[in-house]
Amino acid sequence: MSTTENVVIIGSGPAGWSASIYAARAQLQPLVFEGAITEKNRMAGTLPLGQLALTSEVENFAGFPAGDLGAFLDSALPKDRRTMMPPHEGHGVTGPELMELMRQQAINFGTRIVTDDIMKVDFSKRPFTLYPSEGDPILANAVIVATGASANWLGLPSEEQYKNRGVSACAVCDGALPRFRNKPLVVIGGGDSAIEEATYLTKFASTVHLVHRRDEFRASKIMAQRAFDDPKITIHFNSTLAEVLGDDVGGVTGVRLESTVEKGKETTLDVSGVFLAIGHTPNTAFLDGQLELTAKKYIVWKKHFRTETSVEGVFAAGDVADDYYRQAISAAGTGCMSALDAERWLAAQGTH
Ligand code: NAP
Repeated sequence: MSTTENVVIIGSGPAGWSASIYAARAQLQPLVFEGAITEKNRMAGTLPLGQLALTSEVENFAGFPAGDLGAFLDSALPKDRRTMMPPHEGHGVTGPELMELMRQQAINFGTRIVTDDIMKVDFSKRPFTLYPSEGDPILANAVIVATGASANWLGLPSEEQYKNRGVSACAVCDGALPRFRNKPLVVIGGGDSAIEEATYLTKFASTVHLVHRRDEFRASKIMAQRAFDDPKITIHFNSTLAEVLGDDVGGVTGVRLESTVEKGKETTLDVSGVFLAIGHTPNTAFLDGQLELTAKKYIVWKKHFRTETSVEGVFAAGDVADDYYRQAISAAGTGCMSALDAERWLAAQGTH
């Protein structure tokens, strides 16, 4: 078995990278498990760099007003990572760009990265043991869990049947595919994500139907107004997706909607794509009950305004412990807090 790590950070969204920047600058030599690049993770929305890697422009991360970041990205990021990214188009920072910048900043201060998942943990004794999908178990004096959350599905059999053949939970990942070009599409949900996805899809679609189960959006006012003002978006309030329609040859051909206010009232829409944007579930299954979770499976912070979990020496940061704010910038903030908490705890233990 390997030597014992000071602190292992699991997850590679804004929380994980902020934690690693702080931990590295505190001379803790953090080891980050950023997640594995697998088809299973792609389908589950748990690839490295987290949910921000699946978004387009990030308008609300302080410090990145719209502008041409091209030269900055070229100078801040290594060539091999830069060439994997789409060219910068003169807008504000995109999610993938922001995540690459955070990752590089963590590396610059000495963070070590393993591109693998932690599949299982043993928090019953110290040092803690973490089991990657490949290689030897890892021992750690402290652990920061920053595994985020991933997109929800409705669980309809027809949704499952047409996944990858017209059903998606990520417009930014899949929206530009030829199958969706100049075709009518539908987005399900009423939050900021649903409106962001619907707006994004108008670039490719002939028209976008936005279906929400209530008669008012959960989204922020500014986002909701964007949907109301967009001539390519048609809003269907008080409706839910009952069935995805399709065939074996072309995949999705339509949807059957049910009214949530008039029993038995149904509508059919001809669409070539269905995009789910109905919220997220925290990525806590691998913890197998070893940390206290809320009813919605988010990690519980045991002390007010601290990132301590129910196991001493294990800290949580970002969306995995936050079902309320769920913002990139708040995740980054709690990532910082978790590293400071871990550093102070390790110092108190005499191990740092
Ligand atoms: P969300 O705010 O939780 O919204 C989820 C939406 O899906 C809600 O409208 C909800 O309906 C609907 N929904 C949930 N379960 C459903 C079901 N089984 N059937 C039908 N509809 C269902 O999630 P989100 O939109 O992903 O946003 C998450 C967080 O990220 C928010 O804090 C948001 O502000 C933020 N965000 C910000 C931006 C931005 O600023 N540009 C972009 C994206 C996300 P109800 O409303 O009826 O509950």
